[in-house]
Parts: sequence; structure tokens; C-alpha cells
Amino acid sequence: MTDFKVPDSFYESLKSTYSKAVESGDLVFTPTSTIYTNVDDVSYVYSVIPTLKQKPQGIPKPSEEEQEEEQEDSSAPFDPFDPPSPPLLVLPDYANNYAVVLNKFAVVPYHFILITKDKKPQSAPLEPTDLHAAYSLLRATNKQSGIRHVGFFNCGANSGASIDHRHIQFIEFPNPKSSDGAVYEPWPDVIVKPHSTTYKNGQKPISAHHAPFFSHFLAPIDTSTKEDELADHLSFRYSTLLSRVLTSLRHSSLPPRSPISYNLVFTEEWMLAVPRTAPDFIDAEADIKIGVNAVGAIGLILAKGDDELEYIKKKGPVAILQGVSLESQKREEDVDYDY
Ligand code: AMP
Repeated sequence: MTDFKVPDSFYESLKSTYSKAVESGDLVFTPTSTIYTNVDDVSYVYSVIPTLKQKPQGIPKPSEEEQEEEQEDSSAPFDPFDPPSPPLLVLPDYANNYAVVLNKFAVVPYHFILITKDKKPQSAPLEPTDLHAAYSLLRATNKQSGIRHVGFFNCGANSGASIDHRHIQFIEFPNPKSSDGAVYEPWPDVIVKPHSTTYKNGQKPISAHHAPFFSHFLAPIDTSTKEDELADHLSFRYSTLLSRVLTSLRHSSLPPRSPISYNLVFTEEWMLAVPRTAPDFIDAEADIKIGVNAVGAIGLILAKGDDELEYIKKKGPVAILQGVSLESQKREEDVDYDY
């Protein structure tokens, strides 16, 4: 049986590998200030992350050193996780089939990624062991660090994903309170709370009919689930959400054969799926292109520079998020599962 136990020293290794990688220049992170705001009772945190300009768009290109290392198949697209760069490797072997690496273009310190050791497509659905491994890693990181973390999976060409090798990312949440007393409370926390003990397998996912004003599907996770039932429990929740994502994309006005794209975001307490229609918010007139990935869905809005931040502030986060997703479900709408 696969052992999903995370080593007790994981968070310490994460921190020491991070410090070394920053010092050697193998990892880029620019400290940034954050702005807390609230729009229609939804918390948002804006951050300017200049390193996003360096993050590869689409399939990434190898660095000069990586180019020097001979690629076995020069026709295959470059895959930075096969193998991962040694200075970024935190856990080379986890639960038989996985490794944990640091994100080279971190959006917060200690931004890390669970990758499959063997290459698997990012566009395929997650497998029960992926969910089990990701959840165990999140739970252990929360426990070891004393800081709440969030996991996310960008799936499909419209989701903001840039690497076609299965990976699930993790970051710590922003402080619940900023230095000037402003509050960040992820909206799914609020919406899921009344359902957390009553929600049953197979039940329709929870969707708020007011904020956040884009289509989303949410399900609580039973935190008391026993280890040997965890993979099944998480898979049930995930497949329920995925069914709704597929249905809503199918009923959308996207052209036929558009890539199935969605963001999956999870904490210890809930799992959220957001169908996606575009990787970037585009305002051609203003010459603006803002990449949005899963963290946008929980109100963490990342700008590449101050000009982009000013644009976001003026336009408002709701318009940005609506520009890359589907319209919010209406209360009377009750689309049957048809996948
Ligand atoms: P996504 O864009 O959702 O597919 O996530 C891929 C993540 O991998 C991005 O956040 C990148 O910053 C990160 N990344 C890109 N190249 C590397 C690399 N060589 N090593 C580690 N992480 C990387």
C-alpha cells in the first residue's frame, strides 16, 4: 500500500531549499506590497509580482544550462519537471509516484509544487492518488508550519496553465488581517460553512447566487475522513465538481471542441472548481493582457506591474474574473448532470 505520510521535516526542508535557491539565483522572488480590498462582500488581495513577466507563457523554453544538458528527444517540448532542477527539489520521492519542487517564479515565499515523477498530461482529470497526495501534503504543511495553505490545479489551455506535466501548486494564504486592519477572508470559507456538516456524497455542489459573480462549484471536505477512505472521499467531491464544470462548459457559448479548462482550488475544508473560458483578461483598447490562474478565483489578484495594478483597481476585480470565466449561475437554473 502506498504511504502518503509526509516527512516531519518537510516544512524545514522547504524553507532551507528555498533560502539556498534564492541565494544561488535558481529561484526568483521579489518581495511585494499587498493591498486588501472588499468588493460586494468578497475579500480581494492585490499584489504586484514583477517576476510574472519572467514566467514562461505557454510551453516554457529551457535555460542556457538546461539547453546544454542533452535532451534525449530534441523534438519533445521542453518540460522543466522532467527532471526537476536539483536546486529546486525539496522532496525527490513522495508517495512512490511524486516529487515536490519549489516554484522557480514564486508568487509568495515557499511557493511549492507537487509533480508526478513520470510525465502525465496536465489536461487529464486528476486521479485518486493525485488528490490523496495533494491533500496529505497540504494538511502536513499546515500542521508543520502553523500557517494555512491553499492548493490549486490549473487544468486546460484556458486555465492559465503553462506546463503540460501534471502539477498541483501550493501557497500560504495572505495574512487574515493586513497591517492596517483590513481583512482577507476567502469567500468559499463563508459560503461553505453552513453546509460543512450536512453535505452528502452526490449532493449538488454549492454555488452562491450573489458574489463572486462568476460560475463556480464548491463542496465541503469532511476533515474527519479516515486515511484509508481519503482517496475515495476526495474523488467523490472532485468528480461531482468536474461533472458540473463539464456541463456548464458544454452549455456555454464557447466554440465546439474548445479545450476543457477549469481551476481547482482546495483547502483542508473545501474544494472549489471554476470553469474557464480564457487564460487572460484582454482589453485590446487599453493594451492590457492580465493572466489569471486559480488563485484569482479566491480573490488573490496578481499584477505584473504598477500600471497593471492601477488598471485592475479602476476596472475592479469582478470584471477581470468575469472576463475569463462563465456567467454566474442563476438561482432558478438547475442544469442536470449530463456527463
Ligand atoms: P502553471 O502555469 O499553472 O502550469 O504552473 C506552472 C508553474 O511552474 C508556474 O507557476 C511557473 O512559475 C513554474 N515554473 C516554470 N518553470 C519552472 C521550473 N523550471 N522549475 C520550477 N517551476 C517552474
